[in-house]
Amino acid sequence: MRTMIDLYALTQEQLAELIVSWGEPRFRARQVWAWLYDRRAASVEAMTDLPKSLRERLKVETTLGTLALAAEQASLDGTVKRLYRLPDGQMIESVLMPYDDDRRTACISTQAGCAMGCVFCATGQMGFARHLTAAEIFEQAMLFARDLEANGERLSNVVLMGMGEPFHNYDATLTAIHRLMDDLGIGARHITVSTVGLVPMIRQFADEGLQVKLAISLHAATDAERSALLPINKRYPLAELIDACRYYVETTGRRITFEWTAIQGQNDTPEQAHALGRLLKGLLCHVNIIPLNPTGGYMYGPSAVERVNRFVEILAEYGVTATVRVRRGIDIDAGCGQLKAEVLRRVKEAAVNDDEQL
Ligand code: SAH
Ligand code: SF4
Repeated sequence: MRTMIDLYALTQEQLAELIVSWGEPRFRARQVWAWLYDRRAASVEAMTDLPKSLRERLKVETTLGTLALAAEQASLDGTVKRLYRLPDGQMIESVLMPYDDDRRTACISTQAGCAMGCVFCATGQMGFARHLTAAEIFEQAMLFARDLEANGERLSNVVLMGMGEPFHNYDATLTAIHRLMDDLGIGARHITVSTVGLVPMIRQFADEGLQVKLAISLHAATDAERSALLPINKRYPLAELIDACRYYVETTGRRITFEWTAIQGQNDTPEQAHALGRLLKGLLCHVNIIPLNPTGGYMYGPSAVERVNRFVEILAEYGVTATVRVRRGIDIDAGCGQLKAEVLRRVKEAAVNDDEQL
């Protein structure tokens, strides 16, 4: 069987080479490119101003992407969560979050699974399968952009906060970010990359000269507590992490966002709030507090509102600003890795039921 060429994986130059190698004039490649990225066509058939022979050849020899939709759930708040199957059978998730203003934010994955093992994270609980290619990262946003376009809407923001650790897959992540900006027209300031705290890559990222936003998953303000939640903290302890954050702020002049998943009775204590205040005092930053989304592999629950409010008050004493974020798509397992975990559970259940029927 001939392998199909993935049009979404080609640069503009590679697409031109392909079309020219088929004996077509170069401007045809520009037409195809415009159909793909300006008009966001969902199929080759839609490319009506191409000669029929070229459309036929494209249909036979190329695909638009490689991700196959395996499951989709829509939440009451408008959040849409998708599970995709990759050509090798791996599964990844992406989420689209519409906001009341015109914002449409895609949350996309950078790896199948994750090697970082954060204890409260559904993806961490699954372990690592493989890195995604730049095309696989990019395509997740592309598919949402395409579907929005069909409804007269536009994808405005992308956060790399789905499954996986973006900085563990640094090069592919950076290539995908450049394509989001160049090919999908998403402004750098509308892209956020979130890392668990891989110190060398935070420094490298600071040197890229991009306007892309950086979020750091902090979750605890002392090494003992952080190492218990995020094993990577043993390799890159807080002092090194905050040094790298300072370097980022000094080099880019940009504010850092710290993510804080609030876990009842664990990291929502006044002691942790004071430790966090001391750690971040004077640094150009903001703290996002997100109540824990409970997962099967972790026994604790989200912090109560009063505890979170007290936490925010203490931070304010240190001049550290914080916002409590609402969890989106909570009714559809829209936390990182949770839809995949839920689908696997159901598949297992179905298998057990089948066995019982035999
Ligand atoms: N690997 C990167 C990006 C993906 S995770 C990172 O860790 O930053 C995106 C965010 O979701 C992280 O801040 C992560 O800590 C958080 N998260 C993971 N599991 C969660 C859960 N069960 N409830 C709330 N937040 C969670
Ligand atoms: Fe990986 Fe991020 Fe989940 Fe940690 S929180 S296991 S780094 S995806």
